Amino acid sequence: MCGIVGYIGQQQAAPILLDGLAKLEYRGYDSAGICVFSPDGFCVEKTKGRLSALSELIDDGKAITGTLGIGHTRWATHGAPSHENSHPHLSTNGKISVVHNGIIENYLLLKDYLLRHGKTFRSDTDTEVVANLIEYYYEMDGDLLCATRRAIEKLTGSYALGVLCIDCPDSLIGIKKNSPLIFGFGKGENFIASDVPAILKYTREVVYLNDGDMVVFNSDSAAFYNALGEQIEKKPEHIAWEMSAAEKSGYPHFMLKEIHEQPKALRDTISPRIRGGRVVLDDLDLSPDYLRGIRRIYIVACGSAYYVGCLGKYILEKTCRIPVEPILASEFRYAQPVLGDDTLVVIISQSGETADTLAALREANNLGARTLAIVNVVGSAISKAAHDVIYTWAGPEIAVATTKAYSTQLSVIYLLAMYIGDLLGTLPEAEYKSMLKALQELPDLLSSVLTTEYLDHIKHLAGELYQNHDVFFIGRNLDSATCLEGSLKLKEIAYVHSEAYAAGELKHGPISLIEQDTLVVAVAGVPELFEKTMSNVKEVKARGANVLGLTTEDLEGEIHKTVDRYLLVPKTHPLLQPSLNVVPLQIFSYYMALARGCDVDKPRNLAKSVTVE
Ligand code: GLU
Repeated sequence: MCGIVGYIGQQQAAPILLDGLAKLEYRGYDSAGICVFSPDGFCVEKTKGRLSALSELIDDGKAITGTLGIGHTRWATHGAPSHENSHPHLSTNGKISVVHNGIIENYLLLKDYLLRHGKTFRSDTDTEVVANLIEYYYEMDGDLLCATRRAIEKLTGSYALGVLCIDCPDSLIGIKKNSPLIFGFGKGENFIASDVPAILKYTREVVYLNDGDMVVFNSDSAAFYNALGEQIEKKPEHIAWEMSAAEKSGYPHFMLKEIHEQPKALRDTISPRIRGGRVVLDDLDLSPDYLRGIRRIYIVACGSAYYVGCLGKYILEKTCRIPVEPILASEFRYAQPVLGDDTLVVIISQSGETADTLAALREANNLGARTLAIVNVVGSAISKAAHDVIYTWAGPEIAVATTKAYSTQLSVIYLLAMYIGDLLGTLPEAEYKSMLKALQELPDLLSSVLTTEYLDHIKHLAGELYQNHDVFFIGRNLDSATCLEGSLKLKEIAYVHSEAYAAGELKHGPISLIEQDTLVVAVAGVPELFEKTMSNVKEVKARGANVLGLTTEDLEGEIHKTVDRYLLVPKTHPLLQPSLNVVPLQIFSYYMALARGCDVDKPRNLAKSVTVE
């Protein structure tokens, strides 16, 4: 998820690794480390916190001699940010050194096996399993390539890896699956990195490794292998971008990059939690007896995370038949909530540091409720204060306006709903299976939406509509909660006044604000309420509104009869439909903001993590 740099050449490796890692800082990280092949063997230096602390520790790299090394900035997923958990990780006998970006989903199983075979572990990370697994196979026949290949065949999940072996002082291995890794051709020196900026200063000739690809290289040459172990030719691509574009992988803004990262973020969050056809939440320590005794669930959050909570109400009530109340964190604290040991308080926060949410969590703990946090940052204050934590594995989110964190939070709500619903017997098996199938298909379905053609279409619509000053989002049931998020996005980044209303509520007041050409975005993704929402659309059209509709592909023939313009998304299980519906709304806000000349990634007056009450 964060940064890898590997170097072999004639120059001192440590300063180059530090420099490369610094160029990857934009990706976010919580700790950093390097391993250099020095005359005395591996020299490993690492530290929790900023890269500057590591640089200081090793005198900007000058304190370490050696021309081969690997470096890493970590975004913790398994184990809190700490010295022990920082990469690189050495194998039991210290012969193998590994840096890793990603998540090894089956690490517990492998760790158990390796422990039984005499390997030892110093960290809580999933990564250490990789170092030990390579060592395990390397001890069998002394062939590093073969050992690395055999090890990665046993891994499920996502990884970009840099591997060093004490017996191979002049070579480095890079290998990847579902996490980015590039190879850079230099002159008398070669590189691997998780992204172009890390090596742009040294070379513009790079190879993008495909999933399963492995590169074995020294300072003068590189051999590439595919997933079958066959040697393959790889032609370098010339990078013409400048640094600022390179940081965003060629996207003009982090927000757009993160919109495109949603399928991967969803896959990383969902797939480790599905095993043997069931949702498995290893992270939770909630006993079946406790879950059976829950009488009420509060979902406490701010901003977009609160809107995930609004969706959570519909989803959890339907699957678990327990009353659910979403409540704003800033209100919860002073509302004297009725809590006890039969209340589950679900806390949602991307950063895990949101001040209002943290205060509400402490209040819930004091009042005797059980607290369960859904957060994106391992080791954050909220993750530490809650009784239970389910991490979203969205990776660092840089744009202020959330997209991938929102989507992964919602996916955790689905996992939780299925987990509790299954246990309580309130979610019939057929329904469970159909939700599970839809959840597993969600990342691919979302990918299928993110085509250039689709984005261009939305850009075109935004080009026609960006001058609207007032926008109303209307929808029913789940769609009303999606509207809240769509409307917030437009406010946040495009600075357009917008309101979200449950469609049926419009006639009780706000319809008086509808004038000739007022833009109304009508979300109609709940099949049984489609007609009802269309009736509301007719009401606003009768008052002159200009309506942009959003529905599922199967209803194209219907929606075009009522609205002025429309957007479609693929159809999925009704409870999961909001995961797809929100995406065109994110993209719409993005292009509206661009058309209005706004600073998309850093909107005025807003901060990424709100740490004041
Ligand atoms: N899962 C690994 C860890 O928690 C790697 C995280 C990363 O990509 O930085 O250490």
